[in-house]
Amino acid sequence: MQIQDLQFEAYISSEKIQERVLQLGIELNKKFADQDPIFIIVLNGAFIFAADLIRQFNGDCETIFTRIKSYTGTVSGEIQTFSGFDHKVNNRNIIFIEDIIDTGKTIMHLFKEIEKLNPASVTTIALLQKNIHRPNLIKADLIGFEIPNVFVVGYGLDYEEKGRNLAGIWVEKT
Ligand code: IMP
Ligand code: MG
Repeated sequence: MQIQDLQFEAYISSEKIQERVLQLGIELNKKFADQDPIFIIVLNGAFIFAADLIRQFNGDCETIFTRIKSYTGTVSGEIQTFSGFDHKVNNRNIIFIEDIIDTGKTIMHLFKEIEKLNPASVTTIALLQKNIHRPNLIKADLIGFEIPNVFVVGYGLDYEEKGRNLAGIWVEKT
């Protein structure tokens, strides 16, 4: 499949993703059922994953959104946009929902900002985690799939804003 100048091939099927989302939902229910957590959905990439995941959660919860952008094309860069958290998070249990952690720069920025607001706890769930060997690698607490250093699209993730609508995850052909 072609998006702009890049070729992609099927990587993680929609069925496999849905299966994993159910398992992550079970973990969430075990840990947070009585805690009335606040899910912070990290836009844009996490919108589809988050929509599937939070519907597996059975307890009370709140859902807010933050928008942060650092990626250009297929490369991670400096933080360009950050919308802040428009909600009272003081003394609450926070669960960030991310599409993918690559360099960890985005999630580090979010941690720093949320810590200023004195939450009770902060947990991170990422659908994908790039498993790259580097010092001070930040890992999500809950991970859907670990992948090598490849570029992927689909299920919310984009290449130049295209491909978010794909039901499965596709990888750039090298
Ligand atoms: P980080 O700040 O380098 O960890 O990058 C995190 C953000 O970059 C993610 O939330 C994605 O929006 C984007 N990103 C990282 N890797 C990919 C990829 O392989 N495909 C599409 N977007 C990606
Ligand atoms: Mg993102």
